[in-house]
Amino acid sequence: MPTVKSYAATSPTDPLVPQPLERRDVGPHDVLIEIAYAGICHSDIHTVRGDWGPIAYPQVVGHEIVGHVREVGAQVTKHQVGDRVGVGCMVNSCRSCDQCEEGREQYCREGNVGTYASVDVDGSITQGGYSQAVVVNEEFVLRVPESLDFARVAPLLCAGITLYSPLRHWNVGPGTKVAIVGMGGLGHMGVRIAHALGAEVTVLSQSLRKQEDGLRLGADHFYATSDPATFDELAGRFDVIINSVSAPLDITAYLNLLDVDGTLINVGAPPEPLEVAAFALIGKRRSFAGSMIGGIAETQEMLDFCAEHDILPETELIQASYINEAYERVLASDVRYRFVIDASTF
Ligand code: NAP
Ligand code: ZN
Ligand code: ZN
Repeated sequence: MPTVKSYAATSPTDPLVPQPLERRDVGPHDVLIEIAYAGICHSDIHTVRGDWGPIAYPQVVGHEIVGHVREVGAQVTKHQVGDRVGVGCMVNSCRSCDQCEEGREQYCREGNVGTYASVDVDGSITQGGYSQAVVVNEEFVLRVPESLDFARVAPLLCAGITLYSPLRHWNVGPGTKVAIVGMGGLGHMGVRIAHALGAEVTVLSQSLRKQEDGLRLGADHFYATSDPATFDELAGRFDVIINSVSAPLDITAYLNLLDVDGTLINVGAPPEPLEVAAFALIGKRRSFAGSMIGGIAETQEMLDFCAEHDILPETELIQASYINEAYERVLASDVRYRFVIDASTF
C-alpha cells in the first residue's frame, strides 16, 4: 500500500496537521493519481468541524482534486499514464440503480461513496484530496481539458458542478432572470456559468464589497442584502434564485423575490433547519428546491463547457501549511474566491 503525505483533521476543534496516509493498492479498475492541486470547499470545514454530525478522526478532506495519472490497473480503458485528470465529490456508487443508470450517481439509491468521510466498498473510510496521491475507480475520474489552467481548475470539480447542474436542470438561459445569493466559492462560479448560459445575472451579497468583482465575472446587477431596500426593489423579480450561503438565511425574504412559478434552489448546506412561510410559496406558485453536486457525465460536460467558454474560478494558491488560516478566512467570507492548495507542499 502506498503511503503519502497529507493534512488531516484529528478532532472537530484542533487545527489540521501533517500526517502520513495509506492509499489502497491499485486494483484492476483503479487509477493512481498524483495530486497537483486541491481546492478548499466550505463543505470540508463543515465536515471536519462536525457541523453535519460526528465523523471518525483522523480525517483527510478535499474533493476538488486535479493531478496526473501515474499508474493504471490492468483493466483500465478510460485513462492513461500521464493524463491530466480530476476527481470531485464522489468516488463510487452502486452503478445499477435507476439514478446511477441515468447518470445521477449523486442521488444513488444506495448512497454515493463520497470522496471523504464516506464508507468505501472495502468498509474503510474514504480520505480526500489534501494529500499527495489518491486511488480512484476509473469511472469516477474526469478528463481535464488541456486549455484550462491546471493551477486554477480544481474548484470546478465541486463548486463548478454544484452550480452548473441546477442551472441546467432549471433551464437557465437567454431570457432567464437569475439571482445568486452569496458570492463565495460556489456563488462566483454560478455568476460565471449563468452569464455564459446567456441569463441576466444578479448577485445578492451581504455588502457591496465584492461588487466590482461580481460585475467583472459577468453579473448584470449587484445588490447588498444588508440594505432592506434591496428586498423592496427586487420583489417578484427572478425566475430562479440559487442560494449558496453556508449559514441559515431568512428564506421567506428571498422567496418573495421570485416571480410567479419561480424556483429558489438551495445548494448551501447549513446544519440548521431553514424556515419557510407557506404563503410565500402559495401566493405565486413558487417552488423551494435543493440540488447536490452533479453526475459524473454531467461533471465532464461542465468541464468541457468551461473549457469552451474559458471559465475558471478566481483562486488564491496556498501552501499546505496555510490551510488552517485559509479555513478562518473562508469562515469570515474573506476569500476571493477559492483557496487552492499546491499539493507539492504537503
Ligand atoms: P464560501 O466560499 O464560504 O461562500 C459562502 C458565501 O456565503 C460567502 O462568501 C458569503 O458571500 C455568504 N455568507 C457567508 N455567511 C453568511 C451569512 N451569515 N449570511 C449571509 N451570507 C453569508 O462557501 P462555499 O464553498 O461556496 O459553500 C457554500 C455552501 O454550500 C456551504 O454550506 C457548503 O457546504 C455548501 N455546498 C453544497 C454543495 C451541494 O452539492 N449542494 C456542494 C458544495 C458546497 P457574500 O460575501 O457574497 O455575502
Ligand atoms: Zn464541495
Ligand atoms: Zn446507484
